[in-house]
Amino acid sequence: MEGAAAVVGAGPNGLAAAVVLARAGLDVTVHEAAGAPGGAARSAAVLGPGTVVDLGSAVHPFGVASPLFSRLGLHRHGLEWLHPPVVAAHPLDDGPPGLLHRSLERTAAELGPDGRAWSALHRGVVERWEQTVESALGPLVRVPEHPAALASFGLRAPWPAAATARAVFRTEQARGLFAGSAAHAVLPPRHVLTSAFGTLFGAAAHATGWPVARGGSQAIADALVADLREHGGRVLLDRPVTDLAQVRPAELVLLDLTPRQVLGLGGLELPPRYRRALSRWRYGTACYKVDLLLDGPVPWCDPRVARAGTVHVGGTLAQIGAAESQARAGRLPERPFVLVAQQGAADPSRAPAGQQVLWAYAHVPHGCDDPRAGERVLDQLERFAPGVRDRILARVDTPPSGLQAWNANLVGGDIGGGALDGLQQVFRPVVQADPYATGVPGVFLCSSSTPPGGGVHGMAGYHAARRALTGLARDRRRTGGQTG
Ligand SMILES: Cc1cc2nc3c(=O)[nH]c(=O)nc-3n(C[C@H](O)[C@H](O)[C@H](O)COP(=O)(O)OP(=O)(O)OC[C@H]3O[C@@H](n4cnc5c(N)ncnc54)[C@H](O)[C@@H]3O)c2cc1C
Repeated sequence: MEGAAAVVGAGPNGLAAAVVLARAGLDVTVHEAAGAPGGAARSAAVLGPGTVVDLGSAVHPFGVASPLFSRLGLHRHGLEWLHPPVVAAHPLDDGPPGLLHRSLERTAAELGPDGRAWSALHRGVVERWEQTVESALGPLVRVPEHPAALASFGLRAPWPAAATARAVFRTEQARGLFAGSAAHAVLPPRHVLTSAFGTLFGAAAHATGWPVARGGSQAIADALVADLREHGGRVLLDRPVTDLAQVRPAELVLLDLTPRQVLGLGGLELPPRYRRALSRWRYGTACYKVDLLLDGPVPWCDPRVARAGTVHVGGTLAQIGAAESQARAGRLPERPFVLVAQQGAADPSRAPAGQQVLWAYAHVPHGCDDPRAGERVLDQLERFAPGVRDRILARVDTPPSGLQAWNANLVGGDIGGGALDGLQQVFRPVVQADPYATGVPGVFLCSSSTPPGGGVHGMAGYHAARRALTGLARDRRRTGGQTG
């Protein structure tokens, strides 16, 4: 198909949309505000020479499982997924940690009395993983392509994770592992639909793993950019778009932006109803990020935790629930839920020999820049790894305003493009049949504020680009090829 398209924002969704449009034959230009492509999937040496720090995303269960990334064959452009020896660990004050392995059987065996319940909860989803992912990573309101897969997953999905965990598990290990996975929704586990996250993340571990990208998450963005270039497209850096006139006369414009930025864009005459609906968009709980360079491995009480790529630091299900509820209610938790990535467990290239980069963030109230949050992250680490403070060689704290400063999509430190609760979980960003259409001919939204939401998988970009191409073809048929 001939013609020109513009994409605003070079995050994983913007780049994915650009690749799909370029592969369809369009001449694609991506306009990116920052000095490097990748959005919240960028890496830089912020902890000093020889370090690779993921500025945003670190661990990629839905990157390795992404139907789009697989179809594109991004390994041709150097993307390599590396798996840690243990997928995730959930340390506890009393007793051994919960450990999530690639093997469902091994995970179940180590969970003792909860082994059978763990298998029963996850096995059906693992067995229909590809179909489940295809369904879960698409617009949720549509005729499902794989009803059987969706049914086996959907039976459990609507429940709050806390209710599921208490109903099916007896040990704090299993409850914690499940609650830790559900906390990736950045919602308290008492919320409806959080079981969907717990089950999906658990099943992902057993099906395709939670890998990191060799050399840093930037490798994912770089591979997408390489694919775009291979198909004739380009990325223009340091080009913040404030008015649509900057990207015209492109026939198609895809916006890798969240609703607040779309509302602020000049030259975009949104239909009043759509504009009103967008202005009701809610942003959610924030992340307060702490990156550490250590002089060696983290001194976890249980050495098996050091082998995990991801560590859920938050204690029991009840403790995680309390922390998430406080953050959501606008109070900085004394003991916040902290997500830790130890990319070095899979990828030794992340730090100079003998040292370790530790990536962590705490869930804090929206827009909360309180520096005590950084200390509380360290307190939580000390709780399960006494002495970790003494090992710190370098430390960089990035509060919510700091996140938003390098990527305008991270509004108030919300890393998901908007809260994932209530109607926003299903209808992103507004309640309408085509979630990507803006009501302005040729202009579409493609960020994580559209289905399927946050995460590095490119599927929002993929679906938005497909809709845009279908619309363009229809318009050209109608006008006999005379559009734009
Ligand atoms: C700290 C953190 C940790 C995360 N951890 C994980 C993880 O481990 N695994 C995972 O899968 N996901 C994780 N995520 C989420 C994931 O990174 C995002 O969901 C994903 O990057 C969203 O992609 P996107 O393309 O929609 O938006 P973004 O990646 O946010 O990209 C948007 C791009 O648009 C650009 N932009 C904004 N405004 C303009 C403008 N006016 N003009 C031009 N360009 C503009 C921005 O500079 C940015 O490059 C994390 C995010 C953060 C911040």
